[in-house]
Amino acid sequence: MGDKLAEGKTKEVWSYEGDLVLLRFKDSITAGDGRRKDILEGKGVLNAQTSALLFRLIEGRVSTHYVGMYDERSMIVKKLKMIPVEVVLRNIATGSIIKRLPIKEGERFDPPVVEFFLKSDELHDPLLNYHHMRYLRLMTKEEAEEIERIMYRVNEVLNPFLESKGLLLYDFKLEFGRTNQGELKVGDEITLDSMRVRDAASGRIYDKDLYRSGAPLDMVKKSYAEFLAKISR
Ligand code: 5GP
Repeated sequence: MGDKLAEGKTKEVWSYEGDLVLLRFKDSITAGDGRRKDILEGKGVLNAQTSALLFRLIEGRVSTHYVGMYDERSMIVKKLKMIPVEVVLRNIATGSIIKRLPIKEGERFDPPVVEFFLKSDELHDPLLNYHHMRYLRLMTKEEAEEIERIMYRVNEVLNPFLESKGLLLYDFKLEFGRTNQGELKVGDEITLDSMRVRDAASGRIYDKDLYRSGAPLDMVKKSYAEFLAKISR
């Protein structure tokens, strides 16, 4: 490992070799735009393993930053210039969309709904449209449409995979970056911090909604571990 290049709420970026960097998953868990924060020992390893498995699952269908693992809590990834936008795909309604629009919890979207949000804790991640993104020089409409197609392709892999494990994928969030050559790639992480997954039969929640709703920390950790075991089988 070289120098620490950046640090966010749940991950650190370290310099590595050439155009590669390390993404090191911390044991922290946060909610409410970082207003709540706890340490969950072992979470970094669980999320690094989950993320690696899911990146490996989608890498044949879409271009991602994933290269391999450096250690049990660190992914080796291609260095990207990250776009500060969170892109969400929703299969089933829950979370922020049912507070913003006349849509009820549990409504199924066919086709899935894709939304863009500005990554800004200060502004509470406001919703963006193509015009906002062009004006703010975040991405062109053509890039936004390409990202929508990538979101659909990821969903076409992730959704049936989780279904085969008896799980329902409500929604997930991805972040994108550009290589020095300007190629768009999926960056960041794919974990229970960034997607909503429930048991298809019982409705049991596996993801960070547990923490958001105040569940005990050991229950959150157990859920993350059980999810990783389920998708590893
Ligand atoms: P919502 O917009 O309903 O709050 O979230 C939609 C999906 O995107 C959920 O799976 C949620 O976990 C994810 N998501 C939304 N905002 C963030 C964020 O700031 N950080 C992370 N890690 N995931 C987010």
